[in-house]
Amino acid sequence: MKNKVHNFSAGPSILPNIVFEQASAAIKDFNNSGLSILEISHRSKDFIEVLEEARSISLDIASLNKDDYSCLFLQGGASLQFLMVAYNFLNKKAAYINTGSWSSLAIKEAKMFGDVSEIGSSADKNFNYIPNLSSINDDFDYVHITSNNTIFGTQFHSFPETTCPLFADMSSDIFSRNINFSKFDLIYAGAQKNLGPAGVTMVLIKNQLLDMVKRNVPSMLSYKVHIDKDSSYNTPPVFSIFSVLLNLRLIKSEGLESIEKRNSEKSKLIYDEIDRNKCFVGFSDINDRSHMNATFNLADGYDVEIFKSICSDNNISGINGHRSVGGFRASIYNALGIDSVITLINCMKEFESNYN
Ligand SMILES: *Cc1c(COP(=O)(O)O)cnc(C)c1O
Repeated sequence: MKNKVHNFSAGPSILPNIVFEQASAAIKDFNNSGLSILEISHRSKDFIEVLEEARSISLDIASLNKDDYSCLFLQGGASLQFLMVAYNFLNKKAAYINTGSWSSLAIKEAKMFGDVSEIGSSADKNFNYIPNLSSINDDFDYVHITSNNTIFGTQFHSFPETTCPLFADMSSDIFSRNINFSKFDLIYAGAQKNLGPAGVTMVLIKNQLLDMVKRNVPSMLSYKVHIDKDSSYNTPPVFSIFSVLLNLRLIKSEGLESIEKRNSEKSKLIYDEIDRNKCFVGFSDINDRSHMNATFNLADGYDVEIFKSICSDNNISGINGHRSVGGFRASIYNALGIDSVITLINCMKEFESNYN
């Protein structure tokens, strides 16, 4: 085996090793059935149990009432949810808070279905902060936020108060902290950041929302159809859902409080070093810093190639910043161990020592 790689990739991203082990075992033989998870029918009893457990465990982790909310596993990524939420629920006017590239894309898609009011934006400072909004009580069909901005490294640490239905793209911070999920009427998350492999998107949706649907929505884009058909209107991504379930079991047994504590410790270590080390500057506003994606730059006059080579000598992978921000981005999702964070910090210190 090669030396351990410290995987800071923004997504697809690190998962617990045991998920890889259990998923690979199931590729060879799933549940002692003599069949691979890759070849079983999505209508088989064994897979229906997987789906049922994944749905139920997700609602449990989120402490959502199973009579009020449904959990769906869909395809098309978070990007399909950008238009699906609007297709189903934007009848007149929806409010969006624009906190980065993903919010901007969600807004672009929503405009095809109705009026969009951008009630807050941090575009004026290249999205390095979360706009401050008190309460939002106009008559919007819904209010949409991106809870964690993967590219820019900002995160909502409290959520807007509103009497309208509240929707969130939680792709990059779902189940990374203990929040009140019942504040939200609809939550979606592409799995490949904090839940599992690419290929499946989790949706947590309040059943009552279906009463709002006024349009004829094509079946594949209709939440009602997917709820009625238990995420199996067509063939669901069997292997991705199974792998997500393996990870959900770990999340459930650790609990969101403990996960949040670990993620806060990891992010504090990184940000403390960014602030202490003269060679680095943080990108986002201190109060809005993400506990999932830490974005930073080299201070003026330091040699980026030297820092990159120190990182690669220490088996650090995936810390290049997104092209729209530049610099570096350390994604520190649930599965990333504190040892990896310490390795990165040691690289930052070693880099600094070149200039003493
Ligand atoms: C990655 C990401 C997306 C896009 O997800 P896809 O599954 O690739 O469509 C959307 N929103 C956020 C916040 C993301 O991090």
